[in-house]
Amino acid sequence: MTHAEQIAGLLLSSRHVIILTGAGISTDSGIPDFRSPETGLWQQYDPIEVLSVDALYNRSDVFFNVGFKILTTSFKAEPNKSHELISEFQKAGLVQGIVTQNIDSLHQKAGSTHVMEVHGHLRTCHCMRCHKTFPTEEVEKKVNAGEIPPKCSCGGILRPDVILFGDSMPSVLNEAISECRHSDLVIVLGSSLTVAPVCQLPLLAKRMVIINREVTPFDSASILAWHGGITDALTEIRDCLKKLSPQLDL
Ligand code: NAD
Repeated sequence: MTHAEQIAGLLLSSRHVIILTGAGISTDSGIPDFRSPETGLWQQYDPIEVLSVDALYNRSDVFFNVGFKILTTSFKAEPNKSHELISEFQKAGLVQGIVTQNIDSLHQKAGSTHVMEVHGHLRTCHCMRCHKTFPTEEVEKKVNAGEIPPKCSCGGILRPDVILFGDSMPSVLNEAISECRHSDLVIVLGSSLTVAPVCQLPLLAKRMVIINREVTPFDSASILAWHGGITDALTEIRDCLKKLSPQLDL
């Protein structure tokens, strides 16, 4: 049996399926991930240096001129075929929720619902003093005009609603924990599974499948680790699903 046939069978026989995505699902949309050899952002910058609470508070020039600009490169990105296939699987009732480490909103743009953004999102920023919320595009304009750090009318500093290195985790993590605990299958797509606590979530499920180009530290805990491109893998899985269950709307 091929990997695609096995995963299609698992999708059809499982009761509650959660997809856990990382930066690797958005590389086909032109957004670099952190750790891919040669193309990962880690080759150029240490994300902890430029995307941390410490940088935000103590080195705001580095945070806004480098870190914030890395984040906003994802603004113009569009969902790719993988985001669309996940949305199709969800609409067909094969996937019950998506836990994502990504901040790019591409699952929602592809039509997915019940997306748990455990590392926040880039849609908005907020004032660290009065908590007023601003669209990130407005804050980006201030940064591009040289206002560093960008400020609210009350004088407070504006920061993105993403979880930076050193931030505490958002409350949606509890929902993600509960969803994984109640699932009989978690499919990990495009994550190096090195960022805690999210990397431990799939261990809460009855079974874990991993699709990732590189080996991950959790491959041996999975029932299947497929080392390849996500779009090709999901396309093969969709084709198997169509054969196994022609009545599905895929
Ligand atoms: P990561 O960079 O650590 O790992 C990504 C993994 O995806 C790598 O192992 C790589 O081999 C694999 N990969 C890349 N493209 C792939 C493809 N097309 N098919 C199959 N595998 C592919 O990313 P991570 O595990 O998500 O953790 C890093 C952190 O980076 C997360 O917290 C996330 O919030 C943040 N991040 C998010 C974005 C985004 O929102 N798109 C982009 C960069 C980083």
